[in-house]
Amino acid sequence: MDIRVSITSLQMFEDCRQKWFYKYVEKWRARSGSGGSSAMNSGAAIAEGLEAGLLLETNVLKRVDTAKERALAYLTERQNTKLVPGVERALDAVPQWIWDIQVPVAEDKFEVLYEIPALDKYEDLWSADLIIVGKPDLWTIMNDRIKIIEFKSTGDSDSKAKSKLERYYYSPQPLDYAVLLRDTHPELAHLPLYTQHVLVTTRGSCFESEEHLVGARAYARAKDALLTRALETAILEPQRHFGVMCDWCEFKEACDTWRFGGDPQTALEFDFEKRA
Ligand code: SF4
Repeated sequence: MDIRVSITSLQMFEDCRQKWFYKYVEKWRARSGSGGSSAMNSGAAIAEGLEAGLLLETNVLKRVDTAKERALAYLTERQNTKLVPGVERALDAVPQWIWDIQVPVAEDKFEVLYEIPALDKYEDLWSADLIIVGKPDLWTIMNDRIKIIEFKSTGDSDSKAKSKLERYYYSPQPLDYAVLLRDTHPELAHLPLYTQHVLVTTRGSCFESEEHLVGARAYARAKDALLTRALETAILEPQRHFGVMCDWCEFKEACDTWRFGGDPQTALEFDFEKRA
């Protein structure tokens, strides 16, 4: 048995194990045409645009235009063009230093095989392989140091966006990517590694977190925490919660945490289908 988890799925496991169970164990995905929230669609279009602008367009002067074209194509495909103005404002707000990055990297993904710690609680898993995969939004080597940049987007006001950015500081995701990057590229071990969040809003603002150095101790702690979380996915049961994440959850209508009556399975099958 292999235990194969992605950094994105681990973040969801942290946020809500029930949602993780719907998405990664039962493999429900929204039926085409059933939409998804505006925030999700805007965020996905911004991410697609950024990736296309940075990675496909080598002429830095054309990157914003390429990003907008890709985002427009994405929204047109999903018949969601009413989101275009906000998405364009967000892309215009991306700081110039990001568009200027000469050699941006976003490999297909990092994929690392880890040994399962010889602890009693993992006894049933000892014969398994633990594989952790992940793909940071962007990383690059600039000024003799590695930088991992995580992009976020929101439709919130500036004050709410600022407090959101502060909360990202506690998200393990950039550190998880730092661990995978270090373990995939030992030849870069001599370079200091930093992480940073960049948050753009569909109202046209941008907020940047400070750069956080991931030193040797932070790397060791983050690796330990990453392996623990990855293995918990194999030994812990799904668990519902009532939390702030529920209001942004695509499964809310079907989740029996929120349903008072009706059949959750029927609700799931109405909007979702199972991936093969
Ligand atoms: S609605 Fe809330 S409890 Fe239910 S799956 Fe979504 S985040 Fe979890």
